[in-house]
Amino acid sequence: MNIDLPGPQTLIADVPAFAAHARPAVLLRPAAGAPGPHDNSVGGPLLWPRDEPWPVCRAPHVVHKREKLSDQDKEIWQDCDRRMKERRRARGGGAYVMSEEDAEAQRRIMDGAGSLDMITWERIRTVSEAPAVPVPMIPVLQLRAGDVPVLPMPEGTDLLQLLWCPDDHSEPPGQRNYWGPNVELRFRAGGAVGPIRDDPPQPEHAEDVYLPNPCLLDPFRVVDLPEQDELPEELVETAQEWAEARDTEYARTLACLPGWKAGGWPSWHLTDLVPIDCAACGTRMRLLLTLDSGKDPGLNLGRFGELRVFTCPTDLSHPFRLNVQ
Ligand SMILES: [Zn+2]
Ligand SMILES: [Zn+2]
Repeated sequence: MNIDLPGPQTLIADVPAFAAHARPAVLLRPAAGAPGPHDNSVGGPLLWPRDEPWPVCRAPHVVHKREKLSDQDKEIWQDCDRRMKERRRARGGGAYVMSEEDAEAQRRIMDGAGSLDMITWERIRTVSEAPAVPVPMIPVLQLRAGDVPVLPMPEGTDLLQLLWCPDDHSEPPGQRNYWGPNVELRFRAGGAVGPIRDDPPQPEHAEDVYLPNPCLLDPFRVVDLPEQDELPEELVETAQEWAEARDTEYARTLACLPGWKAGGWPSWHLTDLVPIDCAACGTRMRLLLTLDSGKDPGLNLGRFGELRVFTCPTDLSHPFRLNVQ
């Protein structure tokens, strides 16, 4: 983070009207390391009681099934392509146009599959399939509330743990419009954990992009502001002008600070603002965590995007929501 840039605090000091929209946040700043079970960590061992069942995933997984074409279908496909090329040549160039019959033949051969591998001549069909046996989840994030004082914590707890099933899931239970690892959150009292589980089970299959390299964290408290769509009309222009006058940008420099983060405001840089409402009570949910792609710890979420966890401000026991941006 470039500390020479005027930050959100400077903007709020200049224009106090922004204070009403500021939220505290903690940038987590993961860096490769060897965390222990008592540390704040990404991809580190969790402070997990030895006698407590380890979380498992039973949700359907996205599977890419390969189906070999018959020799006959492969020939039909190649004939269709050949005729299409010949027609183009006869016209002296231009667009490739397939006859209605040939297009129909290829549709039959695809049989609803998403793509065709023309080297191996296999149809690739993407389906959701429940795992044959429950899949053990893996530790992704552990935060001590004392070091990250922006976390809403249930009474008597001081440790937040996030685990996930490191595979693709299309809309796992409770997660509409979401594709990615299946997440589980635990709040616990660190002091109540007796003997620690030091041999958690491992999943047999994992997508590399969802396996974090172990990192230690360097929590850094900041103030975060919402993106312009979430500001009242009269502050939108002020934000823009204030940033421009200081040769900086409002989004992601003064607002919706990027990177691994607890609390603060979510950015909506790929889509318009998507209101995330609680499924249990309808309240607009608040950003709890942002998990980021890239360098340390080397994840790729969405297409090098962010995975955000939202919780209900009314009741923390209401189901959390996931969103990738
Ligand atoms: Zn799973
Ligand atoms: Zn709720």
